Amino acid sequence: MAFVEFLNRPIEYVKGMGPKRAAAMKKELGITTFGELLTWYPFRYVDRSKFFLISDIDNDQVYVQLKGKITGLQIAGKPGSERLTANFRDNSGRIELIWFKGVKWLKNSLLINQEYVIFAKPAYFNGQFNIPHPEMELVAELKDYVPEPLQPFYSSTEKLKSLGLDSRGIRKVMRNLIAGIEGEVRENLTKDLVCRLKLPGREEALKNIHFPEDPVQLKRAQARIKFEELFYIQLRLLKNKFYRHHNQAGFAFTRVGEYVNRFYNEYLPFTLTNAQKKVIREIRADLGSGMQMNRLLQGDVGSGKTLVALMTMLIALDNGFQACLMAPTEILANQHFQNIHKMVTGLGVEVGLLTGSTKASARKKMMARLTSGELKIIIGTHALIEDKVQFNRLGLTVIDEQHRFGVMQRARMWSKSEMAPHILVMTATPIPRTLAMTLYGDLDISVIDELPPGRKPVQTMHFSDSQRLKVIAFIRKNIHAGRQVYIVFPLINESETLDLKYLMDGYDAVLRDFPYPDYAVSMVHGQLKTAEKEYEMERFVKGQTQIMVATTVIEVGVDVPNASLMVIENAERFGLSQLHQLRGRVGRGADQSYCILMTGLKVTTEARQRIETMVRTSDGFEVAEVDLRLRGPGDLEGTRQSGVIDLKLADIVKDEKILKVARQLAEEIIQQDPLLADPANQVFSRHILELEKEQGNLSRIS
Ligand code: ADP
Ligand code: MG
Repeated sequence: MAFVEFLNRPIEYVKGMGPKRAAAMKKELGITTFGELLTWYPFRYVDRSKFFLISDIDNDQVYVQLKGKITGLQIAGKPGSERLTANFRDNSGRIELIWFKGVKWLKNSLLINQEYVIFAKPAYFNGQFNIPHPEMELVAELKDYVPEPLQPFYSSTEKLKSLGLDSRGIRKVMRNLIAGIEGEVRENLTKDLVCRLKLPGREEALKNIHFPEDPVQLKRAQARIKFEELFYIQLRLLKNKFYRHHNQAGFAFTRVGEYVNRFYNEYLPFTLTNAQKKVIREIRADLGSGMQMNRLLQGDVGSGKTLVALMTMLIALDNGFQACLMAPTEILANQHFQNIHKMVTGLGVEVGLLTGSTKASARKKMMARLTSGELKIIIGTHALIEDKVQFNRLGLTVIDEQHRFGVMQRARMWSKSEMAPHILVMTATPIPRTLAMTLYGDLDISVIDELPPGRKPVQTMHFSDSQRLKVIAFIRKNIHAGRQVYIVFPLINESETLDLKYLMDGYDAVLRDFPYPDYAVSMVHGQLKTAEKEYEMERFVKGQTQIMVATTVIEVGVDVPNASLMVIENAERFGLSQLHQLRGRVGRGADQSYCILMTGLKVTTEARQRIETMVRTSDGFEVAEVDLRLRGPGDLEGTRQSGVIDLKLADIVKDEKILKVARQLAEEIIQQDPLLADPANQVFSRHILELEKEQGNLSRIS
């Protein structure tokens, strides 16, 4: 075999692995090389130097290690579901060991009255402790046993366990792998960094994270590996960003012409907020630079992102280009269309709307006019990405509520023009700073951190089902004062039919509590046909109905300023960012608005925290921080698909400090040597190449 670097060698060459288990490792965990196996980090370390007495077992211990003898074995239960129980004793008492698998084999191989060391998680059942499926070792066979104060535990799968690769099996293999590691692992940080941060070397860290001698060694190894993970994400993102800023040519929109000026002077319905002005300035600088814009616009619900989008599109038009705006749902695309159409008709600008339900004949006409360049602005759903849409000169794509579009979908959009168009991504899900750094470190970020004047924060209250009468009275009071009300039901997601039934039951209850003709009720949900949805929305928008019963289809974008009360049923079933998003549908007019969260009497601690956060604050960034803390980054919308957060050890919430240091150092390095061409920085470029081979390129846009 030609020389293969240690970390790249196939795992079947690890002593004790063999081809069969290696194949299973690959299939189950995607691990194929020494290097990948080494990053299968322990999830826990357990003190194996300590022995417990049976009489000491209580609820405080997760794992216990005992020394004692089996005094009797017994098979019980019906054939096919037998279990084996063993009576296990030490000097302090007795406890039952119990197995549900491998019963016959164990019965024959376990020895009576021989001393064993056993290790397990005790369970509490029927008023006493027992020990299911313990690890068993005969003391007589433990001659060279080293009591480890920090024994590593590895996660595994059923399949791997059946091949002997449970935590213990993996530990054995890992030990063999580590035995040959000395002098084999190439450092991937500069000496300078390692010294400045007082980190252990890479090889030392890899060794000690698996088999630490003491807690200090373990801490240092973990710190090193976490830093490495976070640092390389930052370095790669910043390098991409630099590359884009300097090499990714874009259309230069140098002119601000008639469209923008006339709109600003004659049709702008209100004065821009300072935040809107600031963001528009940032965007204009990008558009004029001759490089492609990739900007993320964050702004809380109701902060006025649509207007920013429109003015950006008008700049494109002033420079002889077309612009498109993509929205995640038909309702939202429609609404954008209505708003924007209204604002630009005076300018003589025509706007097209293309969604899944645009009729074939209308679609065909629209396509032709897009291709010829007559139609300059088009608004739509993902129907816009379908292959047949061809622009004449697409200069700008605005994507609203970005988290709902997949990366691939966006990529298909750009391939539609000779040069990548400028991209403005708008999101109303505020992203906490730490996450933004990790996820969007290569994008330019603008923030609208100010709401239009005159808005009063929505007052949020929590009621339990037993207080429903009070809530009904409150709803009536609001309606009698001329306001409109949303009542939102969660999707339970058991099945579409059940979800619908749940919603319909809720709808019936609303009809009973708010009878016609005193009240009129609209309803929208995902299973309605578009025309029906539109009809129902329209009635509510026009004020013909006072109550809108809906599922989360109204989560994004819908704008009815007169709706000043939102009631969310089963609020405990919603995620925090979703609750915040929903609440953003009210508080859009000048009136005091309210959001009522209804829950049952019993809710989980986590749900309670979500509700309390909603009641306490209406600041989207604060909500997002709590959300991140409660759920962890893996679950946040948009992150799952991004593939950027492929962190094995670091946690961007808990390791925020390390992340900040990593970001800062990466910035310093890229500033001094953006291409990482300096011989001193070769170590970085080489490792980035290796990472790209494994994970692909990080850049998600263009
Ligand atoms: P979002 O950022 O959630 O998309 P919108 O763009 O829908 O917010 O704007 C929310 C509401 O605020 C709309 O009714 C819009 O007309 C209004 N609005 C936007 N900008 C301003 C402003 N500068 N002054 C007053 N109202 C504004
Ligand atoms: Mg919006």
